Amino acid sequence: MCLERTCSPSPPSHLWIDGRVASAREAGVSPLAHALHYGTGVFEGVRCYSGDRRPAVFRLPEHLSRMQQGAEALALPFDAASFTSAVVAVLRANHLADAYVRPLAFFEAGGLGLDVAPLRARHLVAAMPWTSHLDPQRTGRAIHLRTSSRRRTPASSLPPLKLCGGYVASVLAKLEAAREGYDEALFVDEHGFVCEATGENVFVVKRGRVVAVQHPDALAGITRATLISLAGADERPVTRDELLDADEIFLTGTSAEVVAVGRFDARDLVPGAVTRELAALYDAVVHGRSEVERSWRLEV
Ligand code: PMP
Repeated sequence: MCLERTCSPSPPSHLWIDGRVASAREAGVSPLAHALHYGTGVFEGVRCYSGDRRPAVFRLPEHLSRMQQGAEALALPFDAASFTSAVVAVLRANHLADAYVRPLAFFEAGGLGLDVAPLRARHLVAAMPWTSHLDPQRTGRAIHLRTSSRRRTPASSLPPLKLCGGYVASVLAKLEAAREGYDEALFVDEHGFVCEATGENVFVVKRGRVVAVQHPDALAGITRATLISLAGADERPVTRDELLDADEIFLTGTSAEVVAVGRFDARDLVPGAVTRELAALYDAVVHGRSEVERSWRLEV
């Protein structure tokens, strides 16, 4: 079962597009947009959470700094300060508190060659109501993860950033996993080292020790960094065999948050106390119920 199919967000009524808040109908993207044909764009996935006081966006500067790296790789003009104001403006315009925010920068139409230098850049922010895309409350269980027959694109070919075209391999891996009845696919490299899932980083727990999987081809996840800091986790390369021998496995991502793995390939795992506690701690931090790193939250 593909869980993301169960989570189809309603379209936002207002977007921020090229410097102003406008109705979604006004976005006016060309059918010949370069990004539509070649994936020449960069995006982010950001969350806003309700809290005791006002809603707050979680770790926005880190998301925009990663987006900036992707924009620089593609030679796309990018201004983090205007995206910061845009995120706040879109959340307010759509009256959203618990939301997913999607900033996107991409190349418009202007030629079907691969030289992007003459092309116009477009900048967009959308926001929509959202809960975790691998939400155990929706599925009623921990997720089922399957090793993919595909490889994550190596960093030597494509920097592990959120470049639009880079996600095609993830889509293919996800389709394969869904066909086999799994929720999510795991990329493992040709030497047997775990890279990441299609849209999440991987953690493993053994005898109470929490390890964040480290791999040069994996996205440097912001949720991963948050969990390392909250759990005092070690970072190191991990093999698939180690995963098969783990006490607990969990995935992290802005959208997925902290989600337990209940089956890995043919092996069933009982979601354990460490994952449960870390998921609860993450939930408290993102909602501002914890004193930890309040500076991670930007109130809207
Ligand atoms: N890996 C990939 C490939 C991703 O797309 C994502 C984000 N969905 C992650 C890991 C997790 O990153 P973050 O915690 O920054 O959302």
